[in-house]
Amino acid sequence: MNIYVLLKRTFDTEEKITLSNGKINEDGAEFIINPYDEYAVEEAIQVRDAQGGEVTVISVGTEEAEKQLRTALAMGADKAVLINIEDDIENGDQFTTAKIIGEYLKDKNADLIIAGNVAIDGGSGQVGPRVAEILGIPYITTITKLDIENGNVSVIRDVEGDSKRSKHLFHCW
Ligand SMILES: Cc1cc2nc3c(=O)[nH]c(=O)nc-3n(C[C@H](O)[C@H](O)[C@H](O)COP(=O)(O)OP(=O)(O)OC[C@H]3O[C@@H](n4cnc5c(N)ncnc54)[C@H](O)[C@@H]3O)c2cc1C
Repeated sequence: MNIYVLLKRTFDTEEKITLSNGKINEDGAEFIINPYDEYAVEEAIQVRDAQGGEVTVISVGTEEAEKQLRTALAMGADKAVLINIEDDIENGDQFTTAKIIGEYLKDKNADLIIAGNVAIDGGSGQVGPRVAEILGIPYITTITKLDIENGNVSVIRDVEGDSKRSKHLFHCW
């Protein structure tokens, strides 16, 4: 399977964060893989180990995200792609990020794309569904368990404290 994981570099909420002029002061802040994206990398590696194929992690950001991408490689991802927009985009939003990722993925024949539930900084939960819409592929949000058997996918979703199983929602090649 050709598996992609969307990975965002974010600040570590376990560390002390200071603000200046209404923005997070990046000097001295610790940066990590967005925690939900770390789960996504782990899940992707498990799917690859069970089904075969390869895992590629993608981040849109600056060269500083290279560290988090290298961490994903050390976890077991096969490839990492940094889409460095530092010199091109000053003001971006979720639409911008999703459009860039969608454009990159459109000819990659992805079998499975996993994104985090939300980024713990921006926290809109928009990028994953927006990428799916751009690519014209089905998506399911808030997954807590993913099973792939004989090409069929079933998931457990978190639904406001409860969970719901959805079976054979779509075929996975
Ligand atoms: C150079 C640059 C300039 C920016 N300028 C602005 C600005 O002017 N104003 C502003 O408000 N925001 C700006 N941003 C932030 C950016 O728009 C959002 O943080 C980003 O779109 C993600 O939205 P979110 O944090 O709500 O993520 P969510 O939609 O909550 O993220 C959900 C999931 O989508 C995936 N994802 C999210 N972001 C990325 C990413 N960058 N790369 C790969 N996967 C990702 C991850 O899997 C994540 O778990 C900028 C970002 C960059 C890199």
